[in-house]
Amino acid sequence: MPLLVMKFGGTSVATLDRIRRAAKRVGREVANGYDVIVIVSAMSGKTNELVGWVEETSPLFDAREYDAVVSSGENVTAGLMALTLQEMDVPARSWQGWQVPLKTSSAHAAARIEEIPTENMNSKFAEGMKVAVVAGFQGISEEGRITTLGRGGSDTTAVAFAAAFDAERCDIYTDVDGVYTTDPRITSKARKLDKIAFEEMLELASLGAKVLQTRSVELAMRFKVRLRVLSSFEEYDPTAGTLVCDEEEIMENNVVSGVAYSRDEAKVTLMSVADRPGVAAAIFGALADAGVNVDMIIQNISEEGRTDMTFSCPTNQVTRADHAVQDAQERGLINYHGLVADTDVCKISVVGIGMRSHAGVAAQMFDALSAEGINIKVITTSEIKISVLIDRKYLELAVQALHDAFGLEKAG
Ligand code: ASP
Ligand code: MG
Repeated sequence: MPLLVMKFGGTSVATLDRIRRAAKRVGREVANGYDVIVIVSAMSGKTNELVGWVEETSPLFDAREYDAVVSSGENVTAGLMALTLQEMDVPARSWQGWQVPLKTSSAHAAARIEEIPTENMNSKFAEGMKVAVVAGFQGISEEGRITTLGRGGSDTTAVAFAAAFDAERCDIYTDVDGVYTTDPRITSKARKLDKIAFEEMLELASLGAKVLQTRSVELAMRFKVRLRVLSSFEEYDPTAGTLVCDEEEIMENNVVSGVAYSRDEAKVTLMSVADRPGVAAAIFGALADAGVNVDMIIQNISEEGRTDMTFSCPTNQVTRADHAVQDAQERGLINYHGLVADTDVCKISVVGIGMRSHAGVAAQMFDALSAEGINIKVITTSEIKISVLIDRKYLELAVQALHDAFGLEKAG
């Protein structure tokens, strides 16, 4: 039997009514001749509530018990989904992570999937089960304790099952109808993409287009799992949504596929740093130890053995960064004359596989920004992405200008 993985996010299983709607979609695929593995999230808001209870009970909680509590939301929706399918005469049963068993590392609250044995579930399919409903987000460690995969981890569960069972496709049902060229709240010209390459999706996901957990896209890329992102609220349409796939499946790559942004960035400069071998290692080592997520880095030219070192990080980590470098200064690891933080910046990025073979994208981007009088503070590039830091007050204007400049409202 061909097999599909269908994942339903929290908003798609938020009420019994919505579970019924989701179950109907599953029933339709069974009628189409598929065996189906359904992955469910907890009802929307449930995981937040459970996390809150844990933190209120024990501020310095034991992560093993955190996982025992927060994984429970998925158990409820898995059982309810199986019951709903049974009411529709679809042979279904639920599987909690440990029953599969979905084996993970012991890194509680951020566990990595190590293995998904297929024998158990396949023998149930052979006996006539049509749908296996799996509680997303959870697994079991070697020590036999329940683990969770980190927030948003059900996406990763879904992709891992699709890879392990060699599914024809992995459908991710969510509350948006696909992946857009940019945030539709910022410009009404944003267009839904029919297809997007894994690498592009990875850049967009990590840049804050929160449709998929980044790890799930990495996994899909590694195992070439075709992912379709679609809404569970729209009428059934076999071509709906956005297919996230290998770039070879996309005939003509767009030079630019999307404009992403990240609103809360800060630009931090260490002034007049004594420049000698090892200084970058000392600064960024101290920041890493303090858990600061450094993104862009610029080292300016040195004059008389001193240089300015600039980096960006999330706005709410500036204080932590400040303490980390002060501490390194006190311990004699670095020497600098002061820290200047600009906390009113945002990051705008253009992403596209086609950049690899097209020159001039950066110039076109900078032109479009300068035509709006927007000053660029920091620039970084990778093979398929160009990012700039600009004043936050220009975020919307910049996204709109770039969306226009690269003609993203029209299909490529
Ligand atoms: N329920 C978990 C969360 O809210 C996992 C998921 O839905 O993907 O993070
Ligand atoms: Mg999610």
